[in-house]
Amino acid sequence: MIARLQRDFHLAMLSLVGIMVLVCVTPYAIYRYWDGSYLIAAVDSILVVSTLAAVAYAWLTGNTKAAGFFVACMFCAGVVIVVFGLGPVGLFWTYPFIVFIFFLVPPLRALLLLLLVLVTLLLLAALIPGKIFLDGFQLVSFVVTSAVTSFFSYVFAYRMLVQRRQLESMAAQDALTGAANRRQLDQALEFAAGSGRRSRHNEIAMLLFDLDFFKQINDSEGHQAGDAILVELVQLLQKHTRMSDQVYRFGGEEFVVLLEDITQEEALAVAEKLHAVIDKELRSSQRTVSASVGVAVLAPGESWEQWLARADAALYRAKAQGRNQVVMAEMGNPAASKEATPAPCS
Ligand code: GH3
Ligand code: MG
Ligand code: MG
Repeated sequence: MIARLQRDFHLAMLSLVGIMVLVCVTPYAIYRYWDGSYLIAAVDSILVVSTLAAVAYAWLTGNTKAAGFFVACMFCAGVVIVVFGLGPVGLFWTYPFIVFIFFLVPPLRALLLLLLVLVTLLLLAALIPGKIFLDGFQLVSFVVTSAVTSFFSYVFAYRMLVQRRQLESMAAQDALTGAANRRQLDQALEFAAGSGRRSRHNEIAMLLFDLDFFKQINDSEGHQAGDAILVELVQLLQKHTRMSDQVYRFGGEEFVVLLEDITQEEALAVAEKLHAVIDKELRSSQRTVSASVGVAVLAPGESWEQWLARADAALYRAKAQGRNQVVMAEMGNPAASKEATPAPCS
């Protein structure tokens, strides 16, 4: 539960809002019943119950966007009714609401909802003078202070959103090549081999690339030249695969391409094509650069570790047979792999 809250920022915020609403609004609901203000008591109760229901929905389905939007809309309506029912005293409730609506929905959407609330309150004030604001000065003060609070909350929420997106992309990408990183790969493999995919019928293939004699290139041309080759390799792999195919940096000069919805023959054909593209287009300032490739299609009931071990064994065979070639892993046995391309000399 804690791990899920740490992973999912929206769920954590929504849960926080749920706890705050439960703790802060429930006593008011009880007080209003006792006080005889049944409309406000009913509104408070509906807010508490619907917020808790939305938080439970988000926990069960993972759909935090819909839950957040629902709670935000409920609170917009709730604030208007409370202010209308209580008059000037109810205006105090708009300020915490202005802040926490930015925890529920994206900044621009929150700002638009707040604008809607403000316009509705002003329309009501114009229709029934004296009901919400005691005088014109109070009205102007409310408009200015709520607009300033909304604006600064918006700026803060927007900055937070941008920084969170940057952090998320930094946590998911390899800094040098821009390929998805090892953590992403582990998750994707686990998902592919786990229950998330077992119900699907389409196959998924792993192509494991390892550059040949890369250490020699580093040694003779320098680390920077080696880095440039890795960047170019990822660009080539991304350029020559489908949008749905993901390129991952497995480590060092080893990369994985995951191909979804593909047969064994098609996966082999893609591997051969990528191998040929690398052979033709990847070069350092002094020489051509080649790659060895191990290909493995996920077998039914196989764990992701076994799947990876088969791809690795196929790659090992490609290296042992002279490098610069594609080897397809046999189903079921990591040790047995069959050669796909005749072994040219590298
Ligand atoms: P083989 O054909 O057997 O794969 O030979 P190799 O030289 O490619 O294999 P080895 O695994 O011995 O060497 C991998 C090299 O990759 C060693 C390391 O210096 C280099 N390397 C790993 N990560 C990076 C990186 O980020 N940048 C650069 N420039 N080199 C890297
Ligand atoms: Mg290597
Ligand atoms: Mg290598």
